[in-house]
Amino acid sequence: MPKYIDIHAHINFVAFDEDRDAVISRALEGDTWVINIGTQYDTSKKAVEMTNKYKEGVYSTIGLHPIHTSTSYHDESELGSEEKEFTSRGEIFDKNKYRELTKIGKVVGVGECGLDYYHLSPDSVEKQKKAFIDQIELANELEIPLMLHIRNSDENLNISAYQDVLEILKKYSKVKGVIHFFAGTLKDAKDFIDFGFYVSFAGVITYPPKKNDPRKINYEEIIKELPLDRIMADTDSPYVAPVPHRGKRNESVYVKDIVKKIAEIKRLDEEKVAIQILENAKKLFKI
Ligand SMILES: [Zn+2]
Repeated sequence: MPKYIDIHAHINFVAFDEDRDAVISRALEGDTWVINIGTQYDTSKKAVEMTNKYKEGVYSTIGLHPIHTSTSYHDESELGSEEKEFTSRGEIFDKNKYRELTKIGKVVGVGECGLDYYHLSPDSVEKQKKAFIDQIELANELEIPLMLHIRNSDENLNISAYQDVLEILKKYSKVKGVIHFFAGTLKDAKDFIDFGFYVSFAGVITYPPKKNDPRKINYEEIIKELPLDRIMADTDSPYVAPVPHRGKRNESVYVKDIVKKIAEIKRLDEEKVAIQILENAKKLFKI
């Protein structure tokens, strides 16, 4: 058994093309298991294929990130090298194609899916919602949990992507899941926990609070209040490396720095926190 699990990484992305195996080896040797997350069809396929290279400790989810339902978004560390000149393709979620992926490797969840109001283009909300509902239905059918991506707008403070996601889940979801990179309010976190979901924190909790954060997120307060049996940790590699690696390309073995910070905030023994967080993930993802 490992000591840690990074429930949300993208070692499947092009940012790791040069040294993918070394990054996974560092994680496994550091007692850290990894769930690689799909964000569109090809990154999902890559994540699933990677699970076959290792006897244990490497898992995947399959899904379509809300930003990839429109053609406006582009990230060089994600897309394949031959596609560098292109923005996101505006993929439509094809349930049958994604379902086929579960036959070629260890798939433990559907997502990342949800709503992203940060990268919002005028016609994208309806596309995001449609893709999200389709993915909830696939998760229901496969009886595997949802890996949620939820991001608020920094401009319109009156709308909440978190509450909109919750409303959709209450209507459609028969499975549970986890919000990765939680950045909502304490009330949002409690509402999701009451609905049986988990909340996962990323490297940003190790940074000093942002001075100009329009939503004034107070991670210390949120983490202090939430029950430990509902918390997880994720790196979102290659993005947002925790202190002391801030600014570098992130990787799964750094998840221990996030676990350490959670233990510090909750004033609990680090070992105990690591064990409980691992338990939580094993229970949700049935691994
Ligand atoms: Zn992600």
